[in-house]
Amino acid sequence: MPVQSVYPLLEPLLPLVRKPVQYVGGELNSVVKDWDGADVRWALMYPDAYEVGLPNQGIQILYEVLNDAAGVLAERTYSVWPDLEGLMREHRIPQFTVDGHRPVRSFDVLGVSFATELGYTNLLTALDLAGIPLSAADRGPGDPLVLAGGHAAFNPEPIAEFLDGAVLGDGEQAVLRITELIRSWKQGGRPGGRDGLLMSLARDGGVYVPRFYEVAYGADGAIVKVAPAVPGVPWSVAKHTVMDLDAWPYPAKPLVPVAETVHERFSVEIFRGCTRGCRFCQAGMITRPVRERSITTIGDMVATGLAASGYSEVGLLSLSSADHSEINEIAVDLADRYEGTNTSLSLPSTRVDAFNVTLADELSRNGRRSGLTFAPEGGTDRIRAVINKMVTEEDLIRTVTTAYASGWRQVKLYFMCGLPTETDEDVLAIGRVARRVIEAGRKATGRHDIRCTVSIGGFVPKPHTPFQWAAQCDHQTVDARLRALGGVLRADRAYAKAIGFRYHDGRPSIVEGLLSRGDRRVAAVILAAWRDGARFDGWSECFSFERWERAAATALAPRGIDLAWYTTRERPYGEVLPWDHLDAGLDRDWLWQDWLAAIDPAGAAEVDDCRWTPCFECGVCPAMDTEIQAGPTGARMLPLTPVTPAAPAASPGPETPVPAGARAAAVPAPGTAVPAGARSAAIPGPETAVPAGARSAAIPAPGAAGIPAGAESAA
Ligand code: SF4
Repeated sequence: MPVQSVYPLLEPLLPLVRKPVQYVGGELNSVVKDWDGADVRWALMYPDAYEVGLPNQGIQILYEVLNDAAGVLAERTYSVWPDLEGLMREHRIPQFTVDGHRPVRSFDVLGVSFATELGYTNLLTALDLAGIPLSAADRGPGDPLVLAGGHAAFNPEPIAEFLDGAVLGDGEQAVLRITELIRSWKQGGRPGGRDGLLMSLARDGGVYVPRFYEVAYGADGAIVKVAPAVPGVPWSVAKHTVMDLDAWPYPAKPLVPVAETVHERFSVEIFRGCTRGCRFCQAGMITRPVRERSITTIGDMVATGLAASGYSEVGLLSLSSADHSEINEIAVDLADRYEGTNTSLSLPSTRVDAFNVTLADELSRNGRRSGLTFAPEGGTDRIRAVINKMVTEEDLIRTVTTAYASGWRQVKLYFMCGLPTETDEDVLAIGRVARRVIEAGRKATGRHDIRCTVSIGGFVPKPHTPFQWAAQCDHQTVDARLRALGGVLRADRAYAKAIGFRYHDGRPSIVEGLLSRGDRRVAAVILAAWRDGARFDGWSECFSFERWERAAATALAPRGIDLAWYTTRERPYGEVLPWDHLDAGLDRDWLWQDWLAAIDPAGAAEVDDCRWTPCFECGVCPAMDTEIQAGPTGARMLPLTPVTPAAPAASPGPETPVPAGARAAAVPAPGTAVPAGARSAAIPGPETAVPAGARSAAIPAPGAAGIPAGAESAA
């Protein structure tokens, strides 16, 4: 039976809300398939506003992978702003997809990509609007499976109650396997009902189904054991890993937004995984091993993607793009190919020690210089050794000198505050580093209009990293250090105007910390905060720390634990962590040893990148029976003759009708501020410092996918 579009009900309301154009769909390269022509239907959700969610690589990749499969239909849905939420409740309009404006509850699967845990309350809003019971245990045959993916899915325990399943790791192959299992379950007469399907997904689809596992707690509040509650499911659920990226050249037809979004470029993920070993970086740890996309596939994807979209900027994305073994050749060949056109190249974030003169030249060859962001992360060599950044202050000065000498007038520097063992001095030193950067720029160029922006986020310890045992720094200390740094920067009259300073207060990081390392008991906190009005917690104008404090006090007190227990408490080695039964491939003892190496009172020991040194046995490669895939291969991008990208299509394709009246209704409203988490790691925006955890939100998803893999990762 065809499913009715809700658009006739929605359209009259659009003139009443901010940015109505975000709800109309009809983007270039979007797809609306015949409902009855598909036997498995996915609604893919990014739990944030359209302007943040549309560019997400994970969603775009899975949308295309699924729609390319025979008999499969995939549409997208994003979080609606509170103004439309209120009207939808008043007019009884359910959560809908922007493609066909079909009710989300009509689909077989609602796949939600979490790049950051601050999107959890938006999941509850979407479920509630959709008419899907919040608790998975209350769902019936008419409800879709609610599956989570993205980096946050590596510890889905705080939202376990709301999920039917979670998919860890890369999503491209996983979604097709899940689709097959759903199809055969349907064709077989739905044996075992909903539980039968979940059991099939848990046994044969690599899906973690929380309800099939029991958690036992000790008298001190810590977890004693997590074990299967039913026979036949694995004790430990492993992540999915796509080993050959060249076999998955997605996206080929990137979505072109109809409203302003945080990134407007064609992004190609040039490799996945990272072995630099930064101890704070969850994205780097959970996406190992390194898998490079070949230079020839990258060249083909750029040509195809530009022709299909009309974009004039190509983002070469990964967690650390300048680390691709042939990054110079990629940059040279693309600059050759597009010389004389208006096509520019960008690296969303670049390691300090990987940037070089060739890259500087090629990134600016056609005259446009997009923003350059470097992430020293810590203010002193000592704290950078603790986090294993393997970058010295001299490396940074050398690199920014190259950038300024190559024509850039401004660089952005990203730091974190609240790192393990951090002192006031480590943070105040950021001011000295910024002054040296300006001095280097003035010296390299002989000019005085050199600028640098210092952007600082609060550090949040993340699961599956060596810092997963760390005590999170309390927000009062973070705020005091940042205030002191601001005072130092403002007091320096010779440099104050040349240095921009962006930061957030430490309180959102505490909530992110609760949600990142929480267990199943945190679901009650999320529910209480949501019922108290929590929405869009990654947006500073929506976030309320007091609301979360109230929710935590109410929900946790009966259990004898509190917010501090989850955040500012250091964990001992023997404590069972909520995510210990979820396998990112990393050896727990290796992580522990790396943690001890970080906090060694005699000075932190550093670990080099295993791409270029002997294996240091983190466990990932043997766990997957594979090895790091890095070049150089010696291949070059063809053709080398300049190619002029096709002009963008003027109207949506034949498969993507724009709902009647949509354009008329879609009068862009006064701009919405970009959420803290939104600009994320890629390039911290000029207005907003980016919280540590948020960085992973916007960068292209290594893993582009977890079910919709979330991460425009940390790059
Ligand atoms: S197993 Fe060895 S080579 Fe593989 S990612 Fe870990 S340290 Fe590197």
